[in-house]
Amino acid sequence: MIVFTEKEKLTPFIQNLKDEGKTIGFLPTMGALHEGHLSLAKASIQENDYTVVSIFVNPTQFNNLEDLEKYPRTEEKDIELLTSIGVDYVYLPSVADLYTEGEVAKKYDFGGIEHVMEGEFRPGHFDGVATVVGKLLRAVNPNRAYFGEKDFQQIRIVQEMVKQEQIDVTIVPMPIFRAETGLALSSRNMRLTPENLEAAPFIFQVLKEAGELKNQGQTPAEVKAYVEESFAQSPFELEYFEITDEEKLQPISTFKSDVKARGFVVAYAGDIRLIDNIQF
Ligand code: AMP
Repeated sequence: MIVFTEKEKLTPFIQNLKDEGKTIGFLPTMGALHEGHLSLAKASIQENDYTVVSIFVNPTQFNNLEDLEKYPRTEEKDIELLTSIGVDYVYLPSVADLYTEGEVAKKYDFGGIEHVMEGEFRPGHFDGVATVVGKLLRAVNPNRAYFGEKDFQQIRIVQEMVKQEQIDVTIVPMPIFRAETGLALSSRNMRLTPENLEAAPFIFQVLKEAGELKNQGQTPAEVKAYVEESFAQSPFELEYFEITDEEKLQPISTFKSDVKARGFVVAYAGDIRLIDNIQF
C-alpha cells in the first residue's frame, strides 16, 4: 500500500501503470470507512489490475459548516482496513492539493436532476460533488470509478458530469450494502444513539413495504401517503420521500413497466441525516 498526498506524484505514477497496459479502478470516499465502502473497493480489486481509494472530506459539498466539522475522521483505521483487503494506493489530499486558495465549486447545469431531492434540500451540494469528483477523476485518471447506489442521485450527477467534461471513465454503480437488519451502512450511523441505531432498520422496512404496495397495484401517490403516515408514527423525522424515474429523477404519477422507478427517502434520527432508496 502506498499513500499519496499530492496529485503531482499520483498522476504520473498512475499514468506509468496505464502505459504498461494496466487497468485502474478508483473509489472516491470521504473516509470513516465501513463494509459498504469495502464492498465497492473489493469489486474494483476484482475487476482491475490496481485499485486507488481517495479519502477526502470535500468542503465544497457541505452546505452546513457544522455537518462538515462533525463529519467523522478515522484516517488511520481507514488505511488499515484498505490495506487488509488489498487496496494498492490511497490518495489522501489536503484541501490545498485539490483547490486553489478561495476556490468555490463550479456551477453546473445538469438539466434539472440537480434541483430535486438532495439538490433541493442541500442547495449547492451537487455543484460541490461534481467539482470534486471531476478533480479526483482527472488526478487519478482511472479506467473505472465505483459509486454506491445509496447515493443514487449522486451517480446520475457524476454520469452527466463526465459526459459534459468528456472524462474518459466507466462509471460503475454498485448495490447498497446493508446490515443484516436492512439498515444501509453509512459513516453517519456511528453517531446514532443506541436507541436510534436499534430503531433505524425501520427506514428500509418501510421502503420494502412501499415496494410491496406498488406490486399490489397502488399508485405512487398512494405509496407516498403510506410512507409519510408510517414515518409520522416513528421516531424519525421524514425530510422527503419521492418516487421518481431513474433517468431524469422526476416524480412519477403512474408506474409503467418500461420506466424504471425508485423510491428515495431522507429522514432525521435526532440530528443525524439518514438516506436510503429502493428500486421499484
Ligand atoms: P462517502 O464516503 O459516504 O462519500 O461514500 C463513498 C462511496 O461509497 C459513495 O459512492 C457511496 O455511495 C458509497 N457508499 C457509502 N455507503 C454505502 C453502502 N452502504 N452501500 C454501497 N455504497 C455505499
